[in-house]
Amino acid sequence: MTIIETRDLSKYYIFGSGLRVDALREVNLKIEEGEFVSFMGPSGSGKSTLLNIVGCLDKPSSGTVFIKGTEVDYRNSSSIVSLHRQTIGFVFQAFNLISTMSAMENVCYPMHFNRTSSSLQKQRATELLDLVGLGDRLNHLPSELSGGEQQRVAIARALANSPRLILADEPTGNLDSDTGKKIADLMRKINREQGVSFVITTHDPEMARTADRVVKLKDGKIAPEAF
Ligand code: ADP
Ligand code: ADP
Repeated sequence: MTIIETRDLSKYYIFGSGLRVDALREVNLKIEEGEFVSFMGPSGSGKSTLLNIVGCLDKPSSGTVFIKGTEVDYRNSSSIVSLHRQTIGFVFQAFNLISTMSAMENVCYPMHFNRTSSSLQKQRATELLDLVGLGDRLNHLPSELSGGEQQRVAIARALANSPRLILADEPTGNLDSDTGKKIADLMRKINREQGVSFVITTHDPEMARTADRVVKLKDGKIAPEAF
C-alpha cells in the first residue's frame, strides 16, 4: 500500500520586495508502506519543505498529498490533529525534548492525548526506552543524556502512539558521525522489525545510503535519475 503520494506539489514564498522563491516545483513522489526513504540534497534544495508538507506541519501552494490513500485537507485541522496523533511520528535535528521532563515522561507525553491510562503509558514507555537501548536511563533528564541518547529518547517518543510513518528532519545533523551511524542503524532496525515507514532528510550521502531508496532534490525538484 502507498503511504505517501504527492501530485504536482509546489510551494513558493513571496517576499515583501516581490522576490519569489520556489521551494518545491511540481514534485511527484510515491512512498510505499514499510519503505525507508531519504531525501537528500544540498541546503536550500527543499528537503525540509517537502518533509514538513508531507507531515502536515506546513501547507502546499498547489498540488495534493495523499496519506494512506486519503487526500490531505490542509484546512481541516481536526483531520490533521488525528494524523499527528495516530499516523505520523516526528524526529527533529535538535531532538526537541521537554527539558524539565525525564526520558520516561517525554515518551509518555504524546500518549496523554490518546487517553492512554497512566499505568499503560509507563509500561509502553519502559518498553520503548528498552527498545532504543535506554532501559537504564528512564529517570534521566535530557541534560543528563548525551546527544545520541537524547535522539534515542526522541525516537522512542515518536513511536509512542504506534505511528505507521516516522518523518525525521536531519536526525543525525547534530551528532558526530559514529553516533549518527548508530542512530541510523536504530531507525533501520525499527523499520525492519516493526514495519514502520521512515522518511529522513539529510545532506550527507553516507547517511542517505542507509535508506532503501534515495530521493535526490535539487532546486525544489526531484532529480530524474537514481544515483
Ligand atoms: P533544505 O531543507 O533542503 O535546506 P528548505 O526546504 O529549508 O531546504 O528550503 C528550500 C527553499 O525555500 C530555500 O530557498 C529556503 O530559503 C526557502 N524557504 C524555506 N522556508 C522558508 C520560509 N518560511 N520563508 C521563506 N523561504 C523559505
Ligand atoms: P534545514 O535545512 O535544517 O531545515 P534551514 O536553515 O533551511 O534548515 O531552515 C530552518 C527554518 O528556517 C525552517 O523551518 C524554514 O522554514 C525557515 N527558513 C529557511 N529559509 C528561510 C527563509 N529564506 N526565510 C524565512 N525562513 C526560512
